[in-house]
Amino acid sequence: MSTEAKCSKPACDKFVAVNELAKRRGFFWPSFEIYGGSGGFVTYGPLGSRLKQNVEAKLRELFVKKIGIYEMENSVIAPGKVFEASGHVDHFKEPMVECQNCHQRFRADHLLEEKGISSAEAEKMTLEEVAKEIEVHSVVCPDCKGKFGAPTRYLTMFQTTIGPYSGAVGYGRPEAAQNIFVEFNRLYTTARERLPFGCIQIGHALRNEISPRQGLIRLREFTIADLEFFFDPEEPACDKLADVENEVLPILLCETRLKECEDVTNFTVSEALDKKIIRSEWQAFFMAQAKRLLTELGVPADKQRFIEKLTWEKAHYSSQSFDQEVLVDRWGWVEVSGHAYRTDFDLSCHMKASGVDMTVYKEYASPVEKEELTVKPLMAKLGPIYKGDAGKVAAELAKVPAQEIADTMKKDGSFMAGNYQVLPEQVDISMQKTIVRGTRFVPHVVEPSFGSDRLFYVAMEYAYNVKDDRVVMSFPRSIAPIQVGVYPLMGKDGLDTKAKEVQKLLVSEGFMTEYDETGSIGRRYARADEAGIQLGITIDYDTLSDGTVTIRDRDSWQQIRIQIKELPTKLHEYFQEKLNFEQLGSVIKS
Ligand code: AMP
Repeated sequence: MSTEAKCSKPACDKFVAVNELAKRRGFFWPSFEIYGGSGGFVTYGPLGSRLKQNVEAKLRELFVKKIGIYEMENSVIAPGKVFEASGHVDHFKEPMVECQNCHQRFRADHLLEEKGISSAEAEKMTLEEVAKEIEVHSVVCPDCKGKFGAPTRYLTMFQTTIGPYSGAVGYGRPEAAQNIFVEFNRLYTTARERLPFGCIQIGHALRNEISPRQGLIRLREFTIADLEFFFDPEEPACDKLADVENEVLPILLCETRLKECEDVTNFTVSEALDKKIIRSEWQAFFMAQAKRLLTELGVPADKQRFIEKLTWEKAHYSSQSFDQEVLVDRWGWVEVSGHAYRTDFDLSCHMKASGVDMTVYKEYASPVEKEELTVKPLMAKLGPIYKGDAGKVAAELAKVPAQEIADTMKKDGSFMAGNYQVLPEQVDISMQKTIVRGTRFVPHVVEPSFGSDRLFYVAMEYAYNVKDDRVVMSFPRSIAPIQVGVYPLMGKDGLDTKAKEVQKLLVSEGFMTEYDETGSIGRRYARADEAGIQLGITIDYDTLSDGTVTIRDRDSWQQIRIQIKELPTKLHEYFQEKLNFEQLGSVIKS
């Protein structure tokens, strides 16, 4: 559920600039252009695909490699039952209005936000309230100024049928989380039946957005990275907290939001937990990691914040939610990740709907004696009545909690065990002392959920710089789509052969490279800067005599000279951020 500021700026903001550059240089563009396009779908070109992979590599580095979260992958289409059980079929809806003149449809809450009604207020409105506000604020169709009809709630999941059976309803997943929950039992076995553990899925999600008009921010098909972290609610401590306890989280609190104020309060992770601002240690841990991720993607700390969700803004499954937001030029604060404490909601829903046990067993440190209400079938009484079926009656009774049987008997005078009616005199219901060695429970879940297209977009916007009237895409070096450009000063005299040799060497060392011999060296540098190529290696006539090359830095345009044979080691150290540019070789004074 995102917070969006609406555009109030002239056309040439960074959104326009980034989108224009993206099309021109092959980062991304709207899909299906030859057929007039279809809103909400995007194509990532050669540079964009590389950049997106690097953004997702960061997610994997931070969560899978460093924290040891498992990864899984499964299908985008799921049987209807999955999303009926999870509550999405009932809740995954947005308020929509249709223009009575041109029949265009719009998100009603977004139209109201354009009239100054906050997203927090708009989200809690009933359809009647939405209709009233549309009238009060004279909201008309942005395209033709026509009047709107009555608002409705629109299910934003894509519905399909699975196979050629119209009854076999399926949905395109609007999030990958449910795909993780339904596989919990197998994942738990893989985790050697130990909590806590987490599992991430990075894959496509589908949301049939009503009127997506925000480029990569609002797509109908996008990449989601849902991480579900399962833990024992009686042992909620995060053993990795020391790594993040001093990390500062700027939080826009509910109480501040209710005063219509946007001031954030800075809490260290420890303070946020001590003051119970964040209820789960694991949630605080993942929020701190999310801040680090965005910082590593090039978003400065002061352009990030977490916004605490108000009760009515939270998704139906969440007991506490924060959105991580990044300030962007056109849209204001935009959600890039959601952090929800989903408790045992999802596993319990799937357990109930599927009838499959998803509880886990926990052995107590030492067995405890407990008094428990128990129901003992009296076979001497059941036998004469149910004969050969008496055993089945006992088995049916064993499936139901004793309290439920006792309560029903008290209320109705008997209990239906399957198809068998059981009378109070046929069972012994009493408190019994038992030795209990352990217990079964449904794990709790905290979830960070990232949209990688939004991460991609904010990385593009924060990389976008203009220097001497030229665009320079200053990506952090760990996500630059191409690491090294290789340029012969001239495409002749053996310089081209030598340059190709250098490129081959770099490729064999695992670097992402590009060879370019077209146009003047100045034009090639300019092209490389726009593509965000981190370093440029130029092969000139001196290279042929002394084996040195020039390396040029994309951002400072500084140059250094270095021996070819030193390139592999030095460049590895540079891209691992162990060396800075000046430490690569001897600096050439300009
Ligand atoms: P949500 O489940 O709505 O909190 O979404 C999780 C994350 O997915 C958000 O933080 C966004 O980064 C991303 N996201 C949600 N909807 C879209 C969309 N329509 N297009 C692109 N990214 C989205």
